[in-house]
Amino acid sequence: MSLDVVCIGEPLYELNQQADGRFLPGFGGDTMNVAIAAARLGARTAMVSKLGTDPFGDAIEELLRAERVDVSGISRHPMAPTGLYLVTHVAKGHSFTYYRKGSAASLLRPADVPAELVGSARYLHVSGISQAISASAREAIDHAIEIARGAGVALSYDTNLRTRLWPVEEARPVVDRTARQARFLKTSLEDSEALLGVGDPAGIADHFLGLGCGIVVVTLGKAGVYLAEADKRESIAGFPVEAVDATGAGDAFTGAFLAELAAGRDAAQAARFANAAAALSTLDYGAIKPLPRRDAVERFLNRNG
Ligand code: ADP
Repeated sequence: MSLDVVCIGEPLYELNQQADGRFLPGFGGDTMNVAIAAARLGARTAMVSKLGTDPFGDAIEELLRAERVDVSGISRHPMAPTGLYLVTHVAKGHSFTYYRKGSAASLLRPADVPAELVGSARYLHVSGISQAISASAREAIDHAIEIARGAGVALSYDTNLRTRLWPVEEARPVVDRTARQARFLKTSLEDSEALLGVGDPAGIADHFLGLGCGIVVVTLGKAGVYLAEADKRESIAGFPVEAVDATGAGDAFTGAFLAELAAGRDAAQAARFANAAAALSTLDYGAIKPLPRRDAVERFLNRNG
């Protein structure tokens, strides 16, 4: 078996409050969003995680199977629950409340990482959230990175800083040592401002290229991305759309970018395609439902030439 992208992290079950007060079920979790975003574009992807033996874990596994994401790297914990989050609506917009402490995914350990699966991929994708959920998950990710390195699998890393999960002082050295191993690193202006105290895309790229990353992408919301490689830097413009919800747009970008790199596109081509996929992902609510398929992205690019 050979895969394009293996993602490690925590899938979450979502309950999203509607205008009438009822909660609608859904799904989230940054690395699962990336696995599904890439799978919808035709990439062969897999998810490595731990879920509870509860109905929420069943629903997540069902979702992944329906999206054609390989689930052979997902194990079930007999006692710990699947992570959950609630989206409620407050005066300023959305409010996210997480119930993930002690979740099955936070109990991931190095022994849970399937070496053959990780070693068979082109890209291993991990994020700062997967590292922040617990010390043992962080060790599992370090172990996966070691396996990837030994097998010639490129590392993709999203800094995804969540200061509710770990303080920035703790995150900073972990982000830097992970970035040293990364072929591709995606960060946002906000993450890098907090982590590095640097708020301009060129300065952020200097930092991460200096650590040895091959490709650095700084996401800039509707403006698109700043793309930097050792020998070239450019801004790749976003596509103007009537966005309704940008939750998960960064994951939509990363999934599309990795799918395109795995298909042999260069970084600039991949970033333009990924900007289009991410713009389309903002046209409906939720992180997963609006993720586009390849034909929709191609039609959009033809129209917005
Ligand atoms: P994150 O903060 O999660 O890294 P952003 O919110 O910057 O991500 O969005 C990631 C990508 O999604 C952007 O680089 C862009 O391609 C696309 N995007 C986000 N918001 C919009 C928007 N309002 N209109 C068009 N594209 C968008």
